[in-house]
Amino acid sequence: MASSMQENGGFGVVQDNYPTIHKSPGEGGPTPNLADYEATRAAFSWDKIREELDGLPDNQGLNIAYEAVDRHVAKGQGDKIALRWLGKMGESREFSFDDLRRQTNRFANLLQTLRIAEGDRVFVLCTRIPELYIAALGTLKHRAVFCPLFSAFGPEPISERVNSGDGRVLVTTRRLYEKKVAPYRDILPNLEFVLLVDEEGGAIDLPGTLDLVRLMQAQSDEYTIGPTDPESMALLHFTSGTTGKPKGAIHVHQAVLMHYMTGKYALDLHDEDIFWCTADPGWVTGTSYGIIAPLLHGVTMLVDEPDFDGPRWYSILQEQHVTVWYTAPTAIRMLMKLGRDLAKQYNHPQLRFVASVGEPLNPEAVVWGQKALGLPIHDNWWQTETGGIMIANLPALDIRPGSMGRPLPGVTATIVRRLEGGGIEEVTAPDEEGELALKPGWPSMFRGYLHNEARYNRCFVDGWYLTEDLAKRDADGYFWFVGRADDVIKSAGHLIGPFEVESALIEHPAVAEAGVIGVPEPTLGQMVKAFVSLNPGYEPSEALKRELLGHARKRLGAAVAPKEIAFEEKLPKTRSGKIMRRLLKARETGETLRDTSTLED
Ligand code: AMP
Repeated sequence: MASSMQENGGFGVVQDNYPTIHKSPGEGGPTPNLADYEATRAAFSWDKIREELDGLPDNQGLNIAYEAVDRHVAKGQGDKIALRWLGKMGESREFSFDDLRRQTNRFANLLQTLRIAEGDRVFVLCTRIPELYIAALGTLKHRAVFCPLFSAFGPEPISERVNSGDGRVLVTTRRLYEKKVAPYRDILPNLEFVLLVDEEGGAIDLPGTLDLVRLMQAQSDEYTIGPTDPESMALLHFTSGTTGKPKGAIHVHQAVLMHYMTGKYALDLHDEDIFWCTADPGWVTGTSYGIIAPLLHGVTMLVDEPDFDGPRWYSILQEQHVTVWYTAPTAIRMLMKLGRDLAKQYNHPQLRFVASVGEPLNPEAVVWGQKALGLPIHDNWWQTETGGIMIANLPALDIRPGSMGRPLPGVTATIVRRLEGGGIEEVTAPDEEGELALKPGWPSMFRGYLHNEARYNRCFVDGWYLTEDLAKRDADGYFWFVGRADDVIKSAGHLIGPFEVESALIEHPAVAEAGVIGVPEPTLGQMVKAFVSLNPGYEPSEALKRELLGHARKRLGAAVAPKEIAFEEKLPKTRSGKIMRRLLKARETGETLRDTSTLED
């Protein structure tokens, strides 16, 4: 067993002495796809997974959108509901697999008309509206690259990503465009086409934009997917690091094997499932599991347009007969805050499997699931670079509350220690902390950071991919998250790079220097907090604080901007002049800093 206390990524110290939850696989539901962990791992091969998919007709390669949509139509499942969309005004729309096939064909034809070529980047900045899903899959059919942006990003994160991803096309809505893109068009010189959807269903007449809905109407329902090299770029997901600009992690069509395999084993998708992934496609979970994996399995996936709303969520579980639910720790903690009585007002006997990802899942949340939902919550772990779930509390395995679970079949994980002179050594003793490392070779492993080969190469040491997560493995092979090895922040499950926030703050004339950290917050996990020193002529005041918060929010958007700002006369720095975020964090959390040898004074 792991030690009885562990640090949890700045989330405070949690007790992990919750009893193991024993599972009776298949009780009250279908037999899990992975009923025997050891046997499935031993017999596993990626070739066998490939055989469960079809490939493009006439051996023309492997295309994610074909596997997700057209394949089911070809097998006579065209009338099955693929996507049930629930709008914020109470309306709903259903798309069968054949509807999706035709709509995504239209979108692919539209890209063809615009002379968008294979490998060109198509960015999508939308709230969760049907056009987002159609654009994503249509882009993949056309062999262009789907690059999602989170709709709560502000103009800076948007332009930064579109520019560094060489975006030629942007699909967005009128409101988002007017607020976050139109005033910045002059700094987006390579963006050629903006395809707009009007939120109210009206026609688009904005200069420099095209009316997506009208253009789609003029397109044909038929489109032949061209030969698709499984190693060709399909998805570009931006992720943040400690320093520098966000990095575009490249994923290829071959990743579909991982989406399929994890949908089968980690989410246990079965033919008749109604699956709901609450993640927004602006983040990797919302694409891999909010679009691709459920469609691959031919299940009905739900998309709910509005943001979190406790009673609404419970009623969706009940009324939509959700069977498999994939959500996130922040959402679960928000439900916990609303109380068990609210949970008990709803009935969802069809619900058989609940999983969560993105940040540490408190053991008490796992247990809360049992009491409030009647089911424990299965934590799992992965990251943008891995493209799919790597470690999970699998349906047939006992749950260790607080643990991320065990590696999926086809995945080899270990704990390593970086050596001073370079290189790494594996930590073989149980319960010892180190960095989580993965053996490269799974199909959805990222193939590069766009335009940043050196940074990509640094991720690999002695034949292992290093995740920058600190973790432990217990004697039974369960992995336990300890924290991040770097300074990135996880707030409400969203990965935020402190550098991006600091850069926006120092654009304000009052700010001389900024240091940004994540501070523990019971619901969000971490909250973005900025420490700033001021330029001569500026004095700390509540009014200036409000102004700086407003400035950051306008530039960065609500998802990224700091929630708190503190004034400092001077920020702690290393002797080489780098702001020591770790010291700011240690001061804030009352922890002692282990190594202060590089501190300036
Ligand atoms: P992202 O690339 O935005 O998906 O963020 C990936 C990071 O989120 C990981 O490297 C971890 O730091 C964190 N993370 C994801 N899943 C978990 C989990 N189950 N427990 C703890 N941290 C997690």
